[in-house]
Amino acid sequence: MAKQGSNIDHTKEGELIVPNFPIIPFIEGDGTGPDIWRATQFVLDGAVSGAYGETRKIQWMEVIAGDKAFHRTGSWLPEETLERIRAHRVAIKGPLTTPVGEGFRSINVTLRQELDLYACVRPVKYINGVPSPMRQPGDVDMVVFRENTEDVYAGLEWEAGSSMAERIIELVRAEEEQEIRAYSGIGLKPISLFGTRRLVRMAIRYALEQERRSVTLVHKGNIMKFTEGAFRNWGYQTAREEFGDQIVTEEEVGRDHNGRIPSGKLLINDRLADAMFQQIILRPAEYDVLAMPNLNGDYISDALAAMVGGLGMAPGANIGDGFAVFEATHGSAPKYAGQDKVNPSSLILSGVMMFEYLGWKEAADLVREGLVRAIAQKKVTYDLARQMEGATELRCSQFAEEIMGCM
Ligand code: NAD
Repeated sequence: MAKQGSNIDHTKEGELIVPNFPIIPFIEGDGTGPDIWRATQFVLDGAVSGAYGETRKIQWMEVIAGDKAFHRTGSWLPEETLERIRAHRVAIKGPLTTPVGEGFRSINVTLRQELDLYACVRPVKYINGVPSPMRQPGDVDMVVFRENTEDVYAGLEWEAGSSMAERIIELVRAEEEQEIRAYSGIGLKPISLFGTRRLVRMAIRYALEQERRSVTLVHKGNIMKFTEGAFRNWGYQTAREEFGDQIVTEEEVGRDHNGRIPSGKLLINDRLADAMFQQIILRPAEYDVLAMPNLNGDYISDALAAMVGGLGMAPGANIGDGFAVFEATHGSAPKYAGQDKVNPSSLILSGVMMFEYLGWKEAADLVREGLVRAIAQKKVTYDLARQMEGATELRCSQFAEEIMGCM
């Protein structure tokens, strides 16, 4: 008889309590979503069974969003979907098409805001054999923590000529004696102490738990002193105040430790965002966990994904305090919908992140090993096959079977 599933819970101290038969809501997604979700579910279930036999199993619960939800309920993101994710705390989703139209808030953005998933987490690690534009892609192994709720993404923008834009231009002229050109569009870039602290705290905790070497604060504080510069300063402040005996700053390493990181200490440093784009390409081995405001994170996450094989290979998660939604980082690729063709790796690797988040390390390792071996044997989907010499092109579902066979 199938075991009854139960909810993932949370202690007052913030620890997850994961039952052996957790109920986990999933959104299969639009376009190619159903194809990659089917492949992902198959691989994740296989890994849990391979790692734990019958003692653990995910009880999947479908919740709807996007096209499917709109056709059934008239809403792109029904309240019931949000409530179920809130109740079960951990969910996984395929890509959702953003309906085009004036004033429409993307479903993805709404999910993040409603559940206060304030960190977008993207591990970027090279898998041997994946086509890459880098000379030594094996050096790339970074985890980006991108702030998800503030910065120029806060939605505080006013069109040129609007009354708000005109009023702000007037206010700046009157109070600051600064001229903003007439007929300018205006955007605000809020970055708060609260938002910075909780993001940097999550990145440092992760780095300590995973025994990573460093956390780099990536900012543009030389130009935007009170937003990006503040992010840098508050980041260091959080590191010192909350993790003082576990960290060392780059400045302290130079000044007090002869340029050597004391053993067991996590290095905290910072880089300007423009320089960082060079660093990730020229000296990737020197960087590890990166924490940054929203816009920098948007750019750097995609640049890093390209370095290790593109968005089809890059997993991601949006994480808040006690809630997490794991997701494919690419879009719904509608032109391939229903063709059983596209690469499910992004969603499968998001499933690996989910297992790690749940503490199911053995299942996470099995999936990653299976994927690594399938790629090493050059049995891959079209997007990789066309760039690999001597590869066998597989359908999305066949690729999932191959991964299972390699576990
Ligand atoms: P897209 O990522 O869907 O597709 C662009 C191209 O990338 C595809 O035509 C395909 O060639 C390739 N591609 C994407 N995923 C692939 C995969 N798994 N395997 C192989 N090749 C793959 O980007 P788009 O066309 O700009 O966006 C389509 C829709 O998805 C839009 O509505 C967009 O808003 C939405 N979107 C959603 C998310 C999300 O849900 N997180 C993210 C980005 C875009």
